[in-house]
Amino acid sequence: MSGERAVEVETAEGAIRRLSATRAVVLATGSSPVIPPIPGLGGARPWDNRAVTSAKEVPRRLLVLGGGAVGVEMAQAFKRLGCEEVVVLEGADRLLAHEEPFTGQELRAAFEAEGITVVTGARMTSARRLGPDGPVVASLADRREFTGDEILVAAGRRPATADLGLQHAGLDPGHPVRVDQALRAADVPGGWLYAIGDCTGLAPLTHMGKYHARIAAAAILGREAADVASYAVVPRVTFTDPQVCAVGRTAAQARADGLHVTVVSTPTGEVAGAYTQGTGVRGTSQLVIDDQHRTVVGATFTGPGLAELLHSATVAICGGVTVDRLWHAVPSFPTVSEVWLHLLEAYGL
Ligand SMILES: Cc1cc2nc3c(=O)[nH]c(=O)nc-3n(C[C@H](O)[C@H](O)[C@H](O)COP(=O)(O)OP(=O)(O)OC[C@H]3O[C@@H](n4cnc5c(N)ncnc54)[C@H](O)[C@@H]3O)c2cc1C
Repeated sequence: MSGERAVEVETAEGAIRRLSATRAVVLATGSSPVIPPIPGLGGARPWDNRAVTSAKEVPRRLLVLGGGAVGVEMAQAFKRLGCEEVVVLEGADRLLAHEEPFTGQELRAAFEAEGITVVTGARMTSARRLGPDGPVVASLADRREFTGDEILVAAGRRPATADLGLQHAGLDPGHPVRVDQALRAADVPGGWLYAIGDCTGLAPLTHMGKYHARIAAAAILGREAADVASYAVVPRVTFTDPQVCAVGRTAAQARADGLHVTVVSTPTGEVAGAYTQGTGVRGTSQLVIDDQHRTVVGATFTGPGLAELLHSATVAICGGVTVDRLWHAVPSFPTVSEVWLHLLEAYGL
């Protein structure tokens, strides 16, 4: 960014090309992995989320710092690719700490059943690599040590806005770009700078970045466009086995927002459709229902192949459909969608 509607780009040959936009510039620079300032960690050449997804070899032992979505997906993927030992070190008291507590408990049980070690309440105090090609030793506050041939740091990402010259647009580099409903940078006069996706810090997920792109493109073309997606309705899927699929608020978030809610749940495997996913399907389906408006404000499904079920809950929450109306949205037999019937029955319908 070199000024109003002006951008400088370095070409592959190293030349600087100056571009100026007649209408708008869109920032879509994404996010960068955060390496926590733990003594020795940076020098231990950790894998970040880019390195892990482009790894050419499977290490014999892998340490994973962080039990969020990226950490658990990669931990299971590498175990199944042939890693002998995978240890997940998570500071909170459960995996997927931002989701319903039962999701982390179920995932932990599934991980332990396939030989992945999960250490919760783990505060890493230092890390060191033993020699240039040696293993990495991670030390915890309780003096336990874990050794891996590689260590993946999956401890979050931050908007990638540090080295873009945002100061030339009057913005603070290194921070999320605050946007208005049309995805225009709220603090830049003239409405020429737009920001979409992870660099806004709003909801770092591909589908939300794509939604932003549709809104911003329409706004730039002069159409009526507004980002009215409530950030309380963002769908999230953790692609582990079992999958963890959630949209809207957890029960704790709903109560913290002052809602009076009832939580209903049912075993995912109890409907006939679950047999299409195999026998002995485990998992839980849960709704958080706002008792005042009789609408769903949160839904969580765990089990195999449930990501496709999630959109039904997104539509119900986004549309503010009452449970009394949902009772007449009849799911097909035999599909996993019949969990909706069990859940609504559990609410008293
Ligand atoms: C391991 C992993 C798994 C994930 N899985 C999922 C998932 O299953 N579902 C999901 O919804 N989300 C997932 N995400 C999140 C998802 O990747 C991001 O939310 C999404 O890519 C954000 O899109 P974006 O366009 O904002 O940024 P990005 O996709 O990061 O694209 C930004 C691009 O801008 C380029 N760029 C940055 N700075 C400059 C510059 N100065 N000049 C030129 N180019 C620049 C970057 O090189 C990059 O190509 C995952 C993330 C990780 C790390």
